[in-house]
Amino acid sequence: MSSQGKFVPEFPKPFDFVPFAGKPARNGRPGHESFRIHDHFSGRLVYTLHVETPLHISSGNYALTDKDLGLTAKNVLRDVYRLQQNGQNLPAIPGSTLKGATRAVVEAVTASCIGVTRVDRRDLPDDLERPCRAPHLCPACALYGAMSRMARLSFSDAIFVTGDAGIVRMPALFRPRPEQGRAYRKGPRQFVGRKFYLHGRPTLPKEGHYLEVIRPGSQLRGMVDFTSLTEAELGLLFFALGLDNSFQLALGGGKPVAMGRVHLEPVELQLQQTASFTNYETDSGFLTDSSLHSAITHHLQQAESLILPAQQQKLREILNPQNPRPAATGTY
Ligand SMILES: [Zn+2]
Repeated sequence: MSSQGKFVPEFPKPFDFVPFAGKPARNGRPGHESFRIHDHFSGRLVYTLHVETPLHISSGNYALTDKDLGLTAKNVLRDVYRLQQNGQNLPAIPGSTLKGATRAVVEAVTASCIGVTRVDRRDLPDDLERPCRAPHLCPACALYGAMSRMARLSFSDAIFVTGDAGIVRMPALFRPRPEQGRAYRKGPRQFVGRKFYLHGRPTLPKEGHYLEVIRPGSQLRGMVDFTSLTEAELGLLFFALGLDNSFQLALGGGKPVAMGRVHLEPVELQLQQTASFTNYETDSGFLTDSSLHSAITHHLQQAESLILPAQQQKLREILNPQNPRPAATGTY
């Protein structure tokens, strides 16, 4: 709580680490040039993204405050990323944000390397010092790309469908900022794993910068295109999106104060090849409702061949949406 004008969280540590798995499994895999059509999956997953705690993804702009909001000239308003659609300027989540958040999950639960980091690689554990180079790719690089290898996933911006935007306040301590440099270590040279913020009840203070947020209860619509994935890789994508409902992702700024928790609800799976969906009791490549859910269940089971049980369990603990971490007083 407030002391001398500074907001101090009452919970001691709003994050935890999924331990490193050790040496990346750089099995390589056939590139696009050699994929076999009958056991690979290309298509698109369409989903509804439900905002469960206030979500702020910065536009990168520091707009002057709108005098309609009654803010003083000294304050700036950090507004949310928006996209023009049908003549409207709608709040949105950049595809790059969804790509980054899901890649972090894939890296954490599989025998993968560290794809993007600002830390000095020489400080990392020996097994993780070297990034992947094609064709010797870890599971994360095989899906999300690496040097000289294209990604086989493409995340579109998720666009506002219904809900509400509003203004919250955020102390400088928690303002959105790059976190890569601290993402893996407890202290100097203590690289222990991949860092994720715990969920909790948002506890926003009444001081600090003004921040525009997408309010809880809002819904956005997004999609991810995939090319030439194995059954297990498609399941790994479903897992990383939280479609098994065993954890929820956090996106954007304010994760230390439990902002940005989202729940993804699958809407439609579009598969390109006939061979890909004959098992799903549908006569088209468009899976919805029960055929969609049986396909997701099937691929999630296949993904168990890539997912490390101990890391998966720790990730689920950290990203449990029911986390009872103590709430600081305050309202939002
Ligand atoms: Zn890699």
